[in-house]
Amino acid sequence: DTIGANLDRAIAAYPEREALVDMAGGRRWTYREFGRAVDAVARGLLAKGVGQGDRVGIWAVNCPEWVLVQYATARIGAIMVNINPAYRVHELAYVLNQAGVRLLVASTAFKSSDYRGMVERTRGDCPSLRDVVYIGDPTWEELTAAGAAVPDDRLAAAEAGVGCDDPVNIQYTSGTTGFPKGATLSHHNILNNGYFVGELVGYTEQDRICLPVPFYHCFGMVMGNLAATSHGACVVIPAPGFDPAATLRAVAAERCTSLYGVPTMFIAELNLPGFPSYDLSSLRTGIMAGSPCPVEVMKRVVAEMHMSQVAICYGMTETSPVSTQTRRDDDLERRTETVGRVLPHIEVKIIDPVTGRTVPRGEPGELCTRGYSVMLGYWQEPQRTAEVIDAARWMHTGDLAIMREDGYVVIAGRIKDMIIRGGENIYPREIEEFLYTHPKIADVQVVGVPDERYGEEILACVIPRDAADAPTLSEIEAFCRGQLAHFKVPRHLRIVESFPMTVSGKVRKVELRANFQR
Ligand code: ATP
Ligand code: MG
Repeated sequence: DTIGANLDRAIAAYPEREALVDMAGGRRWTYREFGRAVDAVARGLLAKGVGQGDRVGIWAVNCPEWVLVQYATARIGAIMVNINPAYRVHELAYVLNQAGVRLLVASTAFKSSDYRGMVERTRGDCPSLRDVVYIGDPTWEELTAAGAAVPDDRLAAAEAGVGCDDPVNIQYTSGTTGFPKGATLSHHNILNNGYFVGELVGYTEQDRICLPVPFYHCFGMVMGNLAATSHGACVVIPAPGFDPAATLRAVAAERCTSLYGVPTMFIAELNLPGFPSYDLSSLRTGIMAGSPCPVEVMKRVVAEMHMSQVAICYGMTETSPVSTQTRRDDDLERRTETVGRVLPHIEVKIIDPVTGRTVPRGEPGELCTRGYSVMLGYWQEPQRTAEVIDAARWMHTGDLAIMREDGYVVIAGRIKDMIIRGGENIYPREIEEFLYTHPKIADVQVVGVPDERYGEEILACVIPRDAADAPTLSEIEAFCRGQLAHFKVPRHLRIVESFPMTVSGKVRKVELRANFQR
């Protein structure tokens, strides 16, 4: 199926069920209404001259229009280019030019970000850019008004030209390890992935999914929006940006059954001053992904947020994104120690990154994946594509993983983040898990920093529970003594207020390392 055909199926099956709820704007759409709103935007894009294969950029914080543009572009065979709302002028210009964006849909402003001002400053430097439409502005009304003149058969003709293997989306990676790369994804790639993720969580038309994760990232637009529409479920947008209180308010008010987040988001929600006062009893499931979840956090999510079926997913933008996921009846051990089992119709192998040979079960190596989910390639970068996808179509993820005897996969970290101290391979995750149990530590990240004697030494960056009573290095050393091998004990400590993050909620360890050296 194409994404358009799949949406039509949901509209036909559940016309009166809710598809989308916008808490900030107090607006809601049934599937029937949602389908009409999508068509209005699709016609508007056609009226603006957007054709098959043309790139439509979206540079916006979460809002319902984001979702409309996602489905409208898919319907007419255009390629939506997701632009990170944290970008600034320089990066915006790079993406607009790299992807050759013809029409851009943008937020006007959010918090300190003056999107309109930045777009207007950049416009002159982007020859491909013909039109800009601002959400909640007369230009948006003008788009849908222009579409009213587009006859039904023109929309139908545009749709008929769309194939499942056509590119539908260019998504830039999070930029955790360097400059973001534009993964080009097809209908087939992301629709199948959204469908299977939703299937394993057990979504039906009864589910209501609260999405505080950014739509610009596949976590929101594939695992959220596409998983929802391919099962007739409803998406609830709690707020434009991540707001822990607004998120829990939305869950309570809309009786959501599912909640998404990266671990740091769940930590922020659990630490809200009035946490026990939110009624979260409607929750049953949710998805936690993007980075490893500390055991203590998982326990609280299950016990105090009622998310007994919460799923852990592992994946990357380049693989649409999910490759492995825990199952509904998995126990706490599997949900905290592993990232689940391989999804249906996807292959995974763990190789020795040097020899390329598959390693035995239980041994660490680089995770490679193959199947419908592997991207078409990095947009107009055949060289970089060839560096990650080999001749047999295996995607080399750069992640270190172990395939256990029971078929569950354990992520040991990124090859780039592994610390090599005096010849010992050290996985930061293991030390982070241990330090997380220290009573004075609210959150912790461990990275390797250069060291003359050992090549690398271990640095712990700690957010203390109480800023006035932060742990000292000697306290941490004493805590580790007898618990961790001596070479895993941090030799450097930095007390920080927060970590440098990507918009998708991942800690930029590159920056932690760079800050230390400065
Ligand atoms: P970039 O490629 O630009 O440096 P990025 O890799 O963070 O950024 P994404 O595609 O958003 O961009 O993230 C995919 C990566 O996130 C994976 O390769 C993996 O390292 C990490 N990851 C995803 N899910 C999990 C998980 N459940 N547990 C641990 N790590 C995860
Ligand atoms: Mg990556």
